[in-house]
Amino acid sequence: MPLVRALAIAGDRVAGGVGTHETALATPDRVNLGGRCVLPGFSDAHVHFPSWSLAQQEVRLEDSASLDEALARVSEAADSVEPGRWLRGRGWRSGDWSPAIDPTRQELDAVTGATPAALMARDYHSLWLNSAALAHADGELQVEGGVVELDDQGEPTGILREESAWYFRDRYLLGTDEEFVAAMREGLRIAATRGVTSVHDKDGWLGALRFWQRIAEDGGLTVRVWQSLPYDHVGRLEELRLRAGLGDDLLRIGYLKVFMDGTLGSKTARLLDGSGVQITSREELAEIVRAGARAGWPVAVHAIGDLANREALDAFEETRGEWSAQGLRPRIEHAQLLAEEDIPRFAEIGVAASVQFSHAPSDRDIAERNWAGMTDRAYAYRSLLESGAVVANGSDAPIEELDPLAGIRAGVLRTLDDREAWHPEQAVTVEQALEATILTPAWLARDERQRGKVLPGYLADLVVLDCDPLASEPEELPEVQVVATMLGGRWTHNPPPWD
Ligand SMILES: [Zn+2]
Repeated sequence: MPLVRALAIAGDRVAGGVGTHETALATPDRVNLGGRCVLPGFSDAHVHFPSWSLAQQEVRLEDSASLDEALARVSEAADSVEPGRWLRGRGWRSGDWSPAIDPTRQELDAVTGATPAALMARDYHSLWLNSAALAHADGELQVEGGVVELDDQGEPTGILREESAWYFRDRYLLGTDEEFVAAMREGLRIAATRGVTSVHDKDGWLGALRFWQRIAEDGGLTVRVWQSLPYDHVGRLEELRLRAGLGDDLLRIGYLKVFMDGTLGSKTARLLDGSGVQITSREELAEIVRAGARAGWPVAVHAIGDLANREALDAFEETRGEWSAQGLRPRIEHAQLLAEEDIPRFAEIGVAASVQFSHAPSDRDIAERNWAGMTDRAYAYRSLLESGAVVANGSDAPIEELDPLAGIRAGVLRTLDDREAWHPEQAVTVEQALEATILTPAWLARDERQRGKVLPGYLADLVVLDCDPLASEPEELPEVQVVATMLGGRWTHNPPPWD
């Protein structure tokens, strides 16, 4: 990355960088950085932006240490729910509780009464409902690929998993367009305070595009969006001759989203030891990738377990002639547990690893439990980089917070608390973490010639930091703060002057 002492900006672009002994071009505005550091703006390569925005307004159960603590938080929120509305929450993970027990509807009923309550698990693969919420479904809970947990009497315990959880959510729990758009406007404000200038959104299934469009229409869009669409639209996209990349400088539709398996927390990640849940088979994925290539769309596939990743790699390898001829840039999302021999295949085949540095330290306890004896090949970010793989970093917000500096810290330090680094041999350098958070996401969005570097002609998407993370020791990273953010030459957070 080029390094300059001063920067000239004209319109929405970087006009030039100048060295120590020169001055910047004369412009109407001159900003004295006062020794601060400017980097290209941060990208979040994996975020569920509408869901995260709405989650800012829900009962948050992350870090609850026990079932009782989770119930106390729900109880506190229950009084303020307007009659006829749902109590929504998220973030619980029973594996983190002591004791680690599955919750039930009866426990929830005791603190919510007749208010329907729905609490999504932290990994989004389990849903905890009270009796009033279950009554909405009138017994229709079981769907293909779903699990309805039952008690000794054969009655639902209140826990739905996988497709059953998602079916219930899609049918009864989705917010209105107005709720989403209002929440996203506030979400954009928060994202700007964290230096975010672009996102790869994963909520295409939710109708994210129409929310973004509404926000863009009145000039409120303050990040560049690379939007996913569910893969099952591929046939229609081909019929319409609509290729990936359609849109403008701010909002473009970019890729198809597919799921191979479940997650670590729900024990549904598909492993070589035979455990887990298959959502898409290797053959099905190969067909989807082929159909995508015909229509001009790259595929981003969620794969967590080592078998899910192997089969995803197999499918991309088998179809390589088709997608690489189109110049498509496919990606595996998460790539959390990998067989040793599959690590080099990302680089060999040309599939990007779209990972979340924050997941490693925040999953460490549950990974040690659910993937005992396997964690030396989990969250293997340094091994992936050393093998030559293209590695992009995201947050998977709302699973983790949408906060790139927190992700960078997690990648470098591999710890979130005062414990020792978890598998420090897989820690990445500050430079690698920045590259995965700035350059690589721009490349995945085919924007490498206009974003991700401070070069003449590149978009002036910038973040101002109070000090230079590359000049800091890793243990000083927690002190690096966002001062201001600029998108296309306009300040989106904290315009100067600064104290
Ligand atoms: Zn996700």
